[in-house]
Amino acid sequence: MQAPTHDSRLTIHDLLKQYWGFDSFRPLQEDIINSVLNGTDTLALMPTGGGKSLCYQVPALAKDGLCLVVSPLIALMKDQVENLRRKNITAFAIYSGMSRKEVINTLKTATDSNCKFLYVSPERLETNLFKEYLPAIDINLIAVDEAHCISQWGYDFRPPYLRIAALREELPGVPVLALTASATKEVQDDICDKLSAIQTKPTGFFKNNTVKNNWNIFRQPFERPNLSYSVFRVDSKINKILEIISKVPGTGIVYCKSRKRTKEISDLLKLQNITADFYHAGLNSEERTRKQEDWIKNKTRIIVCTNAFGMGIDKPDVRTVVHADVPDSLENYYQEAGRAGRDGKKSFAVLLYDEQDIQELNELPAIRYPDIETIKETYDAVASYLQVPSGSGDGEYFDFDISDFLKKFKLNSHAVIYSLKALEQDGWLSFNEQVFVPSSVYFTINKNNLYQFEKDHAGLEPLIKTLLRSYDGIFDFPTIISETVIAGLLKKDKEVVKKELLQLLAYGVIHYSPQKDKPQLFFSKNRVKADDLVINTFRYKTRKEKFITRIKSMIDYTTETITCRSKITGNYFGDLAIKDCGICDNCLRKKDTTLTKEEFEKIHDRIVAIMNKESMEAKDLILQLTGIKKEKAWKVIDVLQSENKIMIDNKGLIRLK
Ligand code: ADP
Ligand code: MG
Repeated sequence: MQAPTHDSRLTIHDLLKQYWGFDSFRPLQEDIINSVLNGTDTLALMPTGGGKSLCYQVPALAKDGLCLVVSPLIALMKDQVENLRRKNITAFAIYSGMSRKEVINTLKTATDSNCKFLYVSPERLETNLFKEYLPAIDINLIAVDEAHCISQWGYDFRPPYLRIAALREELPGVPVLALTASATKEVQDDICDKLSAIQTKPTGFFKNNTVKNNWNIFRQPFERPNLSYSVFRVDSKINKILEIISKVPGTGIVYCKSRKRTKEISDLLKLQNITADFYHAGLNSEERTRKQEDWIKNKTRIIVCTNAFGMGIDKPDVRTVVHADVPDSLENYYQEAGRAGRDGKKSFAVLLYDEQDIQELNELPAIRYPDIETIKETYDAVASYLQVPSGSGDGEYFDFDISDFLKKFKLNSHAVIYSLKALEQDGWLSFNEQVFVPSSVYFTINKNNLYQFEKDHAGLEPLIKTLLRSYDGIFDFPTIISETVIAGLLKKDKEVVKKELLQLLAYGVIHYSPQKDKPQLFFSKNRVKADDLVINTFRYKTRKEKFITRIKSMIDYTTETITCRSKITGNYFGDLAIKDCGICDNCLRKKDTTLTKEEFEKIHDRIVAIMNKESMEAKDLILQLTGIKKEKAWKVIDVLQSENKIMIDNKGLIRLK
């Protein structure tokens, strides 16, 4: 028996209080945690910001051993590790861009130390290293964040996630907790299916019998009683945005689809004396952090951004989320819109559209799914550009400057980007536009030599002291550092700090890998000739069809004028029991147009009097019905039309029968 390592006597409530300072769990958290502690495979669906991390962190602390966390976003992973370390919980991370030596070091340290959390980005699971080191690590739970990425029919399929099933076979008996903010019923089933370990019972009659574990599925209700959804078809988006922002006080987000538009809209808002700023992935990380902080601290009221904004942001008092363009899936829309009103106070999610948006959505499938020939050409061009000879490249990372590549090869940028995506989903390579690898440092000399070094290089001593003081564990293992923070502590310029770090590296005192945020291209197989490039066309076509269905659902949501919006999204995500929310535009319109029998008859009589068997435009009729609510008048016209008492002629004019 191993001695309990991490306060295993504490209840989950004690842990919550002790490490997080919270008095109670949020809805579902406790159920999820207990399910995991029972050893059951569990799927948890909770909105972004709902508190998914606690669902694996608490049970992992309640048990001996280490929790392996698969997570796709390096920046978020970094935050989590820092947060845990601040609570004196040992945590490490392994992600793309780390050298093999760094990975080995981290795995070794995780094995030998009292490490409770090991974060791994999914493409790192492909290395055999893991198989080598896993048996030595006492793993108590596998947490899979953004679990929808495992579904190749979902909206964000990432092939390396499929490796998790193989990992499970190496770790029999270790439960899985899959976490996601949104997944359709189909994707939920796919997650459970793909993550299920096919386990062979070791003894008894059931030898060789395969048993698929039963899953517990927890889903937070889709209703957001304080969030009012609405959609407007508009001629001028900017006017509507201004109208919304001036009507609803408080802070807000305006999502748009292009980087260029974020600045344009932000500038227009500023002209109206609204404190606005813009944000997109093309800005450097310092600018992004600054803009985000200013918005969180309410120095900026409205942030105009692409969908790069919002991941991992936890701001409870967002009053409005406006979408100036229609997103390409309800999954994305629901997540982004759901950032409004976390504090439970009345908030608004508004989607704006015009005919062009709908047309562009309809054109998307052809753009997102280029033909196979284009994919092959792209593959060849990229491999030539990176000078990867045939038969090599497997497992290598390349800095990939896509704009330079496009210029040299004179290719269409969409065709290239989506061909790369197709190649990625078929397992040939992976391309990540936003790989951000933060700086990291660890010491490579022993304490005695360091002491001597400090005496000999007094100028570098303050930096060494600051590193050791600010980052626990930095002496032994790669630790993410921030040159900006250190520069602040030392009251030195950031560039000077970087130079000094490079000096320490040159002296062999530390290992220093400066931050990278260049796009990276990773070859997961050796280069082949374009003719030998095999793409699974059946899968590719099926994915395209699923994409078309998703687009259609988004268009349906946008143009729907009757069904409750929470109902539409709820049904989409597999929750069929949703009641009318009563506060979305469609519900409000229905409320407005609930007619009494008397009202109906009164409006009907007026219509008969006005029309008198003449043909006219419906909107002229409405105009003449003075003193009557437009919605009610429309309702009566609709009813008369459905009863064939009103006819529409081929010029679009209406006439009483
Ligand atoms: P998700 O991963 O679902 O997007 P996070 O795990 O990042 O959400 O949590 C979002 C925020 O909610 C964090 O700031 C976290 O500390 C907070 N939180 C989580 N659970 C609770 C709780 N029971 N009580 C109070 N705050 C909580
Ligand atoms: Mg999360």
